[in-house]
Amino acid sequence: MTVEFGPSGNSQSFYDEGYKSSIDYPMWLKRVGLDAYEYSFGRGINLKEETAFKIGENAKRFNIKLSIHAPYYINFGSLDDDTINKSIDYLRKSSKLAKIMGADRVVFHPGSCAKIDRKTAFERCKYGVSKAIETLYKEDLFPYVIICPETMGKQNQLGTLDEIIELCNIDYNLIPTIDFGHIHALGRGALNSISDFEYIFDKLFSGLGEKCLKKLHCHFSRIEYTDAGEKKHWSLSDTDYGPEFSLLAKVLIKKDVYARIICESRENMAEDALELKRIFQMELNSLKI
Ligand SMILES: [Zn+2]
Repeated sequence: MTVEFGPSGNSQSFYDEGYKSSIDYPMWLKRVGLDAYEYSFGRGINLKEETAFKIGENAKRFNIKLSIHAPYYINFGSLDDDTINKSIDYLRKSSKLAKIMGADRVVFHPGSCAKIDRKTAFERCKYGVSKAIETLYKEDLFPYVIICPETMGKQNQLGTLDEIIELCNIDYNLIPTIDFGHIHALGRGALNSISDFEYIFDKLFSGLGEKCLKKLHCHFSRIEYTDAGEKKHWSLSDTDYGPEFSLLAKVLIKKDVYARIICESRENMAEDALELKRIFQMELNSLKI
């Protein structure tokens, strides 16, 4: 079993120590004891190829696994062909930079179903994602990258666990991003016990086979929600909000899952990723006694 831990984005403490560029972040992550880094194009793709290459070189040197988060404005659920084509292009550009960087995973949000009914939006999404996969094949981006649609936290977004499993069945080059905070929020506090977490892995196993549990991408943070779903991500110390990572850690160990777990806490994401790693080690050690 291998479970890797890392942050989404750069922790405030990295900048407080005087660092300015993400090029130095892999070295910093290694020093603090982490294994992975998700670089976000969430608000736009504005990373130079040269910088992407340098981040990648350092990640290799310090053995930090890289992933990319594609822009948040990707929307494969639209009736508008232009929106679908733009979404394909954002995924293509993100994947190209991921290849240059040596980032082997590209995470994206499938799209919205706020304006049209869910079924129609999801049909459009499957069509758009299939087209995107065709484009990425043509651009020789496989097997350098693997595309990871994410489970989403709001009622008006595509990306329930079932929808993500169906999307990942389109092509071998798709694996799920399981965002446990989002699943918790969408289910209005659905993850409260070991069996709640086990249910997710059992569904993945029956929908995508055992290989899925040997190569899983995950996001974790505590989350606040309303009836509409996700409201706000919180830090691990904000214990008013779930879910509890120790429950997930127990299930990862029990089911022998190979996962990369990216922590999405605000500002102190690296510190929280380390805390997740500590909790995981503690659960592992408790089994050895
Ligand atoms: Zn995301």
